Amino acid sequence: MTTPEKRGEGAGRARYTCRLRVSSTARTGLMAEWARCRWVWNECVARSRKAADAAIGATKTALIERARKHARDIRLVHPAHTTMDCAHCGARAKHRIPLSGRTYTCTACGTVSPRDKNSARVMLIRAGLNPAGAEGARPPGALLPEAA
Ligand SMILES: [Zn+2]
Repeated sequence: MTTPEKRGEGAGRARYTCRLRVSSTARTGLMAEWARCRWVWNECVARSRKAADAAIGATKTALIERARKHARDIRLVHPAHTTMDCAHCGARAKHRIPLSGRTYTCTACGTVSPRDKNSARVMLIRAGLNPAGAEGARPPGALLPEAA
């Protein structure tokens, strides 16, 4: 068994170099393989997006159908930039907030609010509703959390 001090000896001095000389035939083959890999990757991304779009479309259709069936008010809003727009002043942030960023801070008016609440308010405004009256409110006929 080695001690940590002995394992570390010379570890910083090791240096490896490698040069790969590839013939033009091999280079052509590698480039063709790279093009194939790129094609497969792009195809997978495209199919994944298509499947996600189909799932979102099916969910949206089902939601609209349910709302009509139960005579509910449903409003569709454009989802673009809902996390970038300020619900208070309407200014749009120049950059997307990463998903890990949970707080929205408006650079124009200085409003600070939880990211999801800000985007919910933006959606309410886009739907023509007043977000000030929606805090803690439930739609008429909604089940209580205990009963759901
Ligand atoms: Zn603002």
